[in-house]
Parts: sequence; C-alpha cells; structure tokens
Amino acid sequence: VKQAGGDALSFFDMELQHQADRRLILAHELRRALNENQFELFYQPQLVHPGLVLGAEVLLRWRHPEHGLLGPDAFIKFAEETGLIVEIGEYVLLHACKQLAIWQHSPGAARLELSVNISAKQLKQRNFSERVLDILQQTNIDPSVLKLELTESMLVEDFDNVVTIMQVLQAKGIRFALDDFGTGYSSLVYLKRLPLYQLKVDRSFVADLLTDENDQAIARMIILLGQTLGLEVMAEGVESVEQLKTLLHMGCYHYQGYYFSKPLPLNEFEAYVAKVSG
Ligand code: C2E
Ligand code: CA
Ligand code: CA
Ligand code: CA
Repeated sequence: VKQAGGDALSFFDMELQHQADRRLILAHELRRALNENQFELFYQPQLVHPGLVLGAEVLLRWRHPEHGLLGPDAFIKFAEETGLIVEIGEYVLLHACKQLAIWQHSPGAARLELSVNISAKQLKQRNFSERVLDILQQTNIDPSVLKLELTESMLVEDFDNVVTIMQVLQAKGIRFALDDFGTGYSSLVYLKRLPLYQLKVDRSFVADLLTDENDQAIARMIILLGQTLGLEVMAEGVESVEQLKTLLHMGCYHYQGYYFSKPLPLNEFEAYVAKVSG
C-alpha cells in the first residue's frame, strides 16, 4: 500500500477500489441477510381521529450481526441500485401478509391494516401483480387490509403500465397510497387517472407546518386536492399536538408520526394497539 505522499492518482484508484470492495461486501451481506432472516418488519401506528389505531405502515429494519439495528437509509438505496430490492421487497410483502393472516384470527386485531412500501424496481417486474396475488392466495388474507405505497417518481416512467397493474390489484381489493406526494413530479392530470385510495402528505410539509407559510399552503392544497378527488388523506411525520391540531383544522383526519409512536417491533406494536383501544 502506497503511503501518503504518493501520487494523487494511485490514491484515487485505491479509494475506488475500496468503494468497489465495500459494494461487493454489502451485496454479499444483504443476500446473507435474506437467507438468515436478519430483516425485521417494524410497525408505525396509523391512526384516524380521534385516536383509533387503523393499523401500521411497515418499515424495514436490518438486524446486522455486527452493526446492530440498521434503518433503510443504510441499505435501501444500494438494494435498489443492485436490484436486490426486488427480493427484499417480496420478503417484506410476504411477511406483512403472514402477519395480517395471524391478526385476522385474533380478537381485537382482526381489522388491522398494513401499508407496505413498494419500490419502483419491484413494480417494473413483468409479473409484479401475479406475485402479489400469489402471496395473497398463499396467506389467504382479505386483500382489503393490505395497502401498497407507491411514490410519484415511479409513475413518471411507464405510467400506463403502472395504471394497469394498479387496476388489476385494485379489482382484487388491494388499496393504494401515493407516498411523498408533492415532493416530486406531481402531475394533477396523472393523479386523476390513478386508482388511488390514499394520498400521503409528506413529512417535509408537516415538519414546518406551524412556521412556514408555504409549507402550510402546500399541505392545505394537498388535503383539499385529496378530498376533491375522494381520497383519504394521511399526514406523516406528525410530531406535536400543535401540528395535529393544524392538520385536523385543515380537514386531515388520518395521521402517523412520532407524536403517537415511532415504528415499533411487532410485540410493542401489538401492546400499543391493546393500550390505545383498551
Ligand atoms: P417513507 O415511506 O416516507 O417512511 C416514513 C419515514 O419517516 C420512516 O423512516 C419513518 O420512521 C419516519 N417517520 C415516521 N414518523 C416520523 C416523525 O414523526 N418524525 C420523523 N422525523 N420521522 C418520522 P424509515 O423507517 O427510516 O424509512 C425511510 C424510508 O425507507 C421510507 O420512507 C421508505 O421510502 C423506505 N422504506 C422503508 N421500508 C421499506 C420497504 O420495506 N421497502 C421499500 N421499498 N422501502 C422502504
Ligand atoms: Ca411510505
Ligand atoms: Ca413518506
Ligand atoms: Ca419519504
């Protein structure tokens, strides 16, 4: 290994080499994580006014043998780049549906819903809808307790194809949420054509709701737009009672956020549901 003082070019090469190594290691580790069940589903409660828990958004965590519990920011982007997200996403969907199947037979949890994030790469698979229907059949759940969250950026390419997939799955009873709405290339024309159930107000607009007039105007517009189109509107990232009050005042009655709960491991989520509804 060349010491400091060596020419810049070879140092640069070395950095690249390290990066390539790191990517290889990460790809290998992600594969192992799948095989060895190191991925865990966390559940962030989703509520409807005045405080009924409807269910949860499923958020992925990786219990890494050396680095501990990792959030999606540490690996989702890489998984998307390498295509590993397709398998990981399917793992999440399958385990979410298995959990829904268990709840369907548990008094007190029978109507809990789960909202699962879908990546663009997954949606682009040729047989995405078949794979989802397969999981539904395998787990024998009522499809109406499953919601899939799409982001607007994945609609830009191949819009017609996405609409077809959504229509097929919607016909079976699955519902769709549009996540991160307003942060990308929103086209109102497209919005009208999508078979959506829910619009999610991005956390970035909720964060400065009380101090930023522009964010407040955007949040108000999204809520109004959702209502006009007959969609349920869910605010994410609600961290304070003041934000909650402002959202309610604007007509948004569905919400999730740290003010209510962080994403929780299964047993803590079930305890939360029992406490809130008890
Ligand atoms: P997202 O879908 O927008 O999920 C919401 C994120 O906001 C989550 O971060 C959640 O923990 C966080 N959050 C919720 N409430 C609050 C709050 O009150 N304050 C703040 N500051 N943050 C809040 P997380 O769990 O780190 O997930 C990040 C992103 O990773 C998600 O953003 C989603 O895009 C992606 N992701 C998570 N799980 C999956 C998955 O299973 N599949 C795919 N494709 N993507 C996933
Ligand atoms: Ca989401
Ligand atoms: Ca979001
Ligand atoms: Ca987001």
